[in-house]
Amino acid sequence: MTFATLGLIEPLLRALETLGYQTPTPVQAQAIPAVLAGRDLMAAAQTGTGKTAGFALPLLQLLTMEGPKVAANSARALILCPTRELAEQVHASVAEYAQNLPLTTYAVYGGVSINPQMMKLRKGVDVLVATPGRLIDLFRQNALNFKQLQTLVLDEADRMLDLGFSEELANIYRMLPKKRQTLLFSATFSDEIRLLAGQMLNDPLTIEVSPRNVAANTVKQWVVPVDKKRKAELFVHLMRKGRWKQVLVFAKTRNGVDALVDKLQGLGINADGIHGDKPQATRQRALDRFKSSDVQILVATDVAARGLDIEDLPLVVNFDLPIVAEDYIHRIGRTGRAGNTGEAISLVCADEVNMLSAIEMLTRQTLTRQMEQDFEPEHRVPDTDATGQVVKKPKKPKKPKASGGGKRNLGKWVDSGEVSPAEPSIKPVRKVPVFNTGPRKKK
Ligand code: AMP
Repeated sequence: MTFATLGLIEPLLRALETLGYQTPTPVQAQAIPAVLAGRDLMAAAQTGTGKTAGFALPLLQLLTMEGPKVAANSARALILCPTRELAEQVHASVAEYAQNLPLTTYAVYGGVSINPQMMKLRKGVDVLVATPGRLIDLFRQNALNFKQLQTLVLDEADRMLDLGFSEELANIYRMLPKKRQTLLFSATFSDEIRLLAGQMLNDPLTIEVSPRNVAANTVKQWVVPVDKKRKAELFVHLMRKGRWKQVLVFAKTRNGVDALVDKLQGLGINADGIHGDKPQATRQRALDRFKSSDVQILVATDVAARGLDIEDLPLVVNFDLPIVAEDYIHRIGRTGRAGNTGEAISLVCADEVNMLSAIEMLTRQTLTRQMEQDFEPEHRVPDTDATGQVVKKPKKPKKPKASGGGKRNLGKWVDSGEVSPAEPSIKPVRKVPVFNTGPRKKK
């Protein structure tokens, strides 16, 4: 199969040739003809599957072939993304695909001045890539209207819900014309996503290019059990042993990112960090330096790392496991892209056993554990498997003491120093927007 057989026009084929794309990926093979035929789409496609071209190529073709010239302060297609980085990334790809077309493209997001964005929108843009908050600001300030909107793309829709954008999505939904084409992409199909799709899509074609919730099988994944306080030391040890050259590292919190970067830099290691507290320009600079190999280790939180597309990234390290199991799939999707092989290593301490178990359940696999000599944990990580079992070693019964040292609890003796090794599992609260689901006109 070629891109030509999917019905793409010559200026797009030329752009793809320039980019070196020879064969459509599975999501592209399914999405392109469906979008060209005007269908709504609900696609479960992981990062790295080529989903951006899957929606952008046919969308650009339809905009070129159909519809009026873009009017002032208008957008003909809107691509919504959860983060600034992803918006930048998607916009860069769209602009590349559109290089031979008479279309304009632009990206708007928060964290930077709104005025240049308002100026730019005066003439209107054919394809607007946006994060939800800034889009609403621009709309409310009359810098933008959606009278000409033909197509809406929700990219990484699951992530938008995770980040709490449900209210914003509901607001945006009310601003848009009812007659439009809507394409929803999500790494995973949670129940909330299905509900959202039911409200926003019209008789969608469903595409699932990989089994539901199964992580990319081109990524070799394993776990190294370790005590929490020795994670940084283990990381440096593994890095030196494996002669790691370019590693994307995930930490749970902003403080965690800063602490690890400080530690690595203190050892003379070329490391930088990105998280939501850093200004956009600093984040972009760190990312650019990582991509050009000026920075060897990039430490990131989940939010900041969304949308990172770094070619041939060989290794992802989970310094901390993610609280939301789906994020594990997003994280390891940074490696093993477009058919390359990659590795994902997770440093796991006893506190994280419930998170490990949730990941194994979601990805339906028991992750291989590999002990590192001299780093065997004092606090054992209980055994887990893909059924969600956490197998705790039976504890030796303790003799009740005559006085002190223990407290009575429903007739059982519990040593006062005894704590569960596992944190309670934290279930993210996701709000699902309630939309006014009046009848939609069919195109
Ligand atoms: P995405 O899943 O859209 O983030 O794309 C992942 C990576 O695959 C990007 O670097 C794309 O440029 C690349 N890519 C997408 N489609 C193809 C294709 N058909 N052939 C080769 N590379 C591709």
